[in-house]
Amino acid sequence: MRQKIVAGNWKMNNDKAETKALIKGIKKSIKKLPLKNTRVIISPSYVSLSSAVKKAKNTNIEVASQNMHQAKNGAYTGEVSADMLKSIGVKTVIIGHSERREYFGETDELLAEKIDAVLANGLEAIFCFGEKLEERKKEDHLLEVGSQLKNALFHLKATDFKNIILAYEPVWAIGTGETASPEQAQEMHAFVRNIIGKKFSKEVADSVSILYGGSVKPANAEEIFSKPDVDGGLIGGAALKAEDFAAIIKAI
Ligand code: PEP
Repeated sequence: MRQKIVAGNWKMNNDKAETKALIKGIKKSIKKLPLKNTRVIISPSYVSLSSAVKKAKNTNIEVASQNMHQAKNGAYTGEVSADMLKSIGVKTVIIGHSERREYFGETDELLAEKIDAVLANGLEAIFCFGEKLEERKKEDHLLEVGSQLKNALFHLKATDFKNIILAYEPVWAIGTGETASPEQAQEMHAFVRNIIGKKFSKEVADSVSILYGGSVKPANAEEIFSKPDVDGGLIGGAALKAEDFAAIIKAI
């Protein structure tokens, strides 16, 4: 059975005290939820990762990093390696978020290297992809997403997908309040599952979790999650409020 996943991307928000308070709030808010087949992941900033891992110990909450450098170590000022993440107990890394692509120049080719580094280190990737507004308007969204997946993931082996979560995030829906309709999300998720199936295997396609991200809120989560190929969400703004995040988890 495919895993259901709700992952919060905290971006550059929350200092030490705020991180502590938010984790406390999430723990309290999700305590009574039946989380049978659902994974709950949060991704604080680098400086709070270590304390977040400690605070989430013995709970249902997993802690992911928002990024990672592809090199083992070396002269890469300001960067963080897989070994560093592993040393504090982080097992999952978000790779290829559209903000990393747009503001930090991360290309498909670089993301392929990052994915390789994540997998070589026994970590798990949440790989983000999605089209921009102009690509959607030109009806090039399937073409664009197909190309992002091909460039960053098609060199992998089928078995690598045990450690990959996919996250479709249309750039025009991130932080804008505008959400893809459930039908638009389903169309893309089915397309992605289909090309993964053709390239790797039906087994891989059926077992890989595909999350939707882009202005998911308590009010729209249930409808989006009801679509057969949507296995959960990557949540930005609404992941910063414990009650909202819990309501989204409840909707799955
Ligand atoms: C995100 O940053 O991955 C995201 C989906 O943000 P938001 O939910 O705020 O649109």
